[in-house]
Amino acid sequence: MNEAVLVIEDEPKIARLLELELQYEGYQVGKAESGTEGLEMYNDGQWDLILLDIMLPGLSGIEVLRRIRAKDAMVPILMLTAKDSVEDKVSGLDLGANDYITKPFRIEELLARVRAALRLSAAAAASLSGVSPHATHESSGHANEDETGWLTAAGLKLNEGTREVSRDGTPIELTPREFDLLVYLLQNQRQVLSRDQIVQAVWGYDYYGDTNVVDVYIRYVRKKVDNGFNPPLIHTVRGVGYVLKEQS
Ligand code: CA
Repeated sequence: MNEAVLVIEDEPKIARLLELELQYEGYQVGKAESGTEGLEMYNDGQWDLILLDIMLPGLSGIEVLRRIRAKDAMVPILMLTAKDSVEDKVSGLDLGANDYITKPFRIEELLARVRAALRLSAAAAASLSGVSPHATHESSGHANEDETGWLTAAGLKLNEGTREVSRDGTPIELTPREFDLLVYLLQNQRQVLSRDQIVQAVWGYDYYGDTNVVDVYIRYVRKKVDNGFNPPLIHTVRGVGYVLKEQS
């Protein structure tokens, strides 16, 4: 069964190039030329991945992203953008985009990211259905996870299965990316993690561009998890990265 990719892109040449290359790789491809058409096609079909341009006429890519994510937290969405600013990336990533690809892109790199995103998504779907495709949990953070699936530190509790997070009994709302970041920190608590390690683990592969995005997300998570609570759990290790631990 071929995986289906929806391309939402208003520039005909880029859309055509993506269509041809993706078809050549064996994917089924749908093409939409505007945000509105893209949403219609999204609603009418079954898609395994969405390539979404940010600069679209009418409904912007960010708005399309927001509406798709309101219905579907899982489908991988890779954003295409001509801009290369951290703020743009972060606003899209915060709304649940899986990755950014900056134009002009090399087609090999784009295809590699599509494959990586599909692989991660298949792994996530398998783990949700209780089948473990990789030994990730067996090999890593098991030490910090009890038999009921809760990761804990001080009053902080996180359940990977139900996606519940709370601190001292107060529920905490996290975006999908913030949740993944906190899972990684909790699984590796008391270990100092570099920005590169965090990017690779949380964004799934070599994130294109800088690791500033880690600092931005640590700030978001810290605000929700540490502000107003004691003791602080997420600590900056100057010149290295971050560690989650109860400070002694
Ligand atoms: Ca465009």
